[in-house]
Amino acid sequence: QKFVYDFTEGNRDLKDLLGGKGANLAEMTNLGLPVPPGFTITTEACKVYLDSGEAPTALREEVSAHLDALERKMGKKLGQADDPLLVSVRSGAKFSMPGMMDTVLNIGLSDESVIGLATQAGEERFAWDSYRRLIQMFGKTVLGVDGELFEEALEAAKHAKKVTVDTDLGADDLKKLVKHFKKIVRQEAGRDFPQDAREQMDLAINAVFDSWNTDRAKLYRRQERIPGDLGTAVNVCSMVFGNLGPDSGTGVAFTRDPASGHQGVYGDYLQNAQGEDVVAGIRNTVPLADLESIDKKSYDQLMKIMETLETHYKDLCDIEFTIERGQLWMLQTRVGKRTAGAAFRIATQLVDQGLIDEAEALQRVNGAQLAQLMFPRFDETARTELLGRGIAASPGAAVGKAVFDSYTAIKWSRSGEKVILIRRETNPDDLDGMIAAEGILTSRGGKTSHAAVVARGMGKTCVCGAEDLEVDTKLRRMTVGGRVIEEGDTVSVDGSTGKVYLGEVPVVPSPVVEYFEGRMHAGADDADELVAAVHRIMAYADRVRRLRVRANADNAEDALRARRFGAQGIGLCRTEHMFLGERRELVEKLILADTDAERETALAELLPLQKADFIELFESMDGLPVTVRLLDPPLHEFLPDITELSVRVALAESRKDANENDLRLLQAVHKLHEQNPMLGLRGVRLGLVIPGLFAMQVRAIAEAAAQRKKAKGDPRPEIMIPLVGTVQELEIVRDEADLVIAEVEAATGTELKLTIGTMIELPRAALTAGQIAEAAQFFSFGTNDLTQTVWGFSRDDVEASFFTAYLEKGIFGVSPFETIDRDGVGALVRSAAEAGRATRPDLKLGVCGEHGGDPESVHFFHEVGLDYVSCSPFRIPVARLEAGRAAA
Ligand code: ADP
Ligand code: MG
Ligand code: MG
Repeated sequence: QKFVYDFTEGNRDLKDLLGGKGANLAEMTNLGLPVPPGFTITTEACKVYLDSGEAPTALREEVSAHLDALERKMGKKLGQADDPLLVSVRSGAKFSMPGMMDTVLNIGLSDESVIGLATQAGEERFAWDSYRRLIQMFGKTVLGVDGELFEEALEAAKHAKKVTVDTDLGADDLKKLVKHFKKIVRQEAGRDFPQDAREQMDLAINAVFDSWNTDRAKLYRRQERIPGDLGTAVNVCSMVFGNLGPDSGTGVAFTRDPASGHQGVYGDYLQNAQGEDVVAGIRNTVPLADLESIDKKSYDQLMKIMETLETHYKDLCDIEFTIERGQLWMLQTRVGKRTAGAAFRIATQLVDQGLIDEAEALQRVNGAQLAQLMFPRFDETARTELLGRGIAASPGAAVGKAVFDSYTAIKWSRSGEKVILIRRETNPDDLDGMIAAEGILTSRGGKTSHAAVVARGMGKTCVCGAEDLEVDTKLRRMTVGGRVIEEGDTVSVDGSTGKVYLGEVPVVPSPVVEYFEGRMHAGADDADELVAAVHRIMAYADRVRRLRVRANADNAEDALRARRFGAQGIGLCRTEHMFLGERRELVEKLILADTDAERETALAELLPLQKADFIELFESMDGLPVTVRLLDPPLHEFLPDITELSVRVALAESRKDANENDLRLLQAVHKLHEQNPMLGLRGVRLGLVIPGLFAMQVRAIAEAAAQRKKAKGDPRPEIMIPLVGTVQELEIVRDEADLVIAEVEAATGTELKLTIGTMIELPRAALTAGQIAEAAQFFSFGTNDLTQTVWGFSRDDVEASFFTAYLEKGIFGVSPFETIDRDGVGALVRSAAEAGRATRPDLKLGVCGEHGGDPESVHFFHEVGLDYVSCSPFRIPVARLEAGRAAA
């Protein structure tokens, strides 16, 4: 087994073994680009080290051999006193991971070799600057010294000299600083800064290995479902120096604009600096385009290299480079991150350039990006005052008055105010306030903080961890850089960028939604370009996808919007809304009926209302299937609240004028009261217990369909029975329905061809799907209830109680209500689909519920061979895109 690869030996396909950084350094080396020589220690070596607590013996020898070769190539030895070879030790796992060790630069410098370096370079300041950087980085990342201590010492040195930037410190200042830094190391780490170059290198390598198992890295892996045993690679790279004076420098570049996708010159450059200075924002960088006037030769060479990389990787690349006295060096490249809009544009641009095909273009975008493009956003042309910036935790553009506690949020929103709930961090007590708010802003916590997780679940705009904001809940205000924002001041929060503004920033609808709605009017060119790209990608997706996409909709308005968004039918029409509003009274009558006659009267009054709803719905979805679910929720949901009613009755009784109807209602409410309504009298159970209820609904559907046919329409209703656990339940309801349908067909003289199927949303239904399929013409997996019943979680309660803890502990990376749990719930779906089809090969299979619009879940449903997914109208484009990606 080989543990060390020279940069000339690897390539970009070896990411598992060499990590992302190492594989791409090798790729660039082999492309003939100027990469400083070096070698990569494999993830395999890391695994051995982590398993046994010791680096493999062979590793030490291999490293020595590669170091020898490197020294020969460079003509100097690591740490050599009169002319030292210096290296960087850089971590690099397959996936970049927060919490992993940073890079240590300038390894090989010591009290002796710093003088050699100064002599060789003819630059004393440069040598001491490099040395102080080494002690600082090594102290912090390898020896675990608090980085602040070094920062403070550096600040103090600048202060003493009355200068503001580090380049104004001279060699003597830096010498003093080195002394100070070494003292800090001795005090904090309990040892001296190692003077032996090889010891420095070995300690740094082991520190990279160890950093694989920091708590933060472990947590991140659990959440992202990255296997814990991949290990990290370590890159040892000979140093090149951007801090050798004004003809040196360092920079980052993108082969195209990661915000718009446009080709051009994008990046930042910093003269006389080492790599980490650019990101750290120590001094002001200049735009990359300025490099042309600073160093034309290097600039031209860089442009050529960028073109080479783009054609080679067939994608946007980002690049780190350094110029050492007019000589350009490439230090890193990878396929770069980009905004959602740029992802769509770049994918189509690359198709036009002939670099990728349509199937590949589909893999370059995703549903989450499309969803982001569909949120309303702040008008970028508006004048704004930026207050600060946090983590973009849940997208959207929210404007409202600042409030600092949930109570005020609720109170103000009840009186019609829009509010932004601002907290240091949120906890389950803030839930109602979060619901009441337009958006949520916190100064602490990351992407998995309570605020972030809950807001994403609610689809509410959220920016978290905006650390510049000093939130004072007691005084009801926050301070940002000396500016005070009081309760009631208006703020605007951009959950897509993490930016927070003072005042009201105007909101504009997303051009992508305008396009789906068919209302796209030519406005800014930028939007047109984006819409054109989305249009093309959607066309690719529709061409290849096998899954059909339907909508969850129960009124004509939603149905029509869904059609505009590309829905191929309705997968879930909930009938319960047809029992609300003024119709409640009729439902009360039904529930209170003492005799068959009373009940039948109530049902007869409901029938025409239901029928009218269906006629409208079938018309709006003419020619497409409409799955109607018979009544599902427990009846008490249609009755008055038990406490309110009890109070009303008690008050009336004390006045001795209790109303007969209220008394009966109260009795009924008590009778229907359940400890666990989710597991109680609902779904098919209602149909079996209340005679005539389902028959009335079936009649309304059948008569509506007959009427639409008479009007030359093409109605295609499918009747769906909810919460079935056993085939017997379904048989009883189906037999009753068949009779009603036959009656309506005879009476109207039409043939209706109605199909009857069931939801699979209880474990028992999934486990006996083969039997159930005998009585069902289709299955629709109700994965919301199935998730609740398989896990034993109540969806309405978990988010507020223990989910944050579960997410923080990494038990899930994402809520199983958001993304289907493949191994548990998913396994049941898979086996039920197979068993159902074994019984009835033409069984139609679909899924309704939140998962139907979730990207990951859509891929799973494609894999198990379902016919369609159904989701809310707004998610339809996302589902279409992901269904296309799954099939491409
Ligand atoms: P990160 O993954 O945090 O970017 P890197 O290993 O890329 O870490 O290094 C951090 C910075 O140091 C980058 O700017 C990089 O370009 C620079 N750097 C790394 N190795 C060298 C080297 N051998 N010579 C000069 N600069 C280097
Ligand atoms: Mg880097
Ligand atoms: Mg259900």
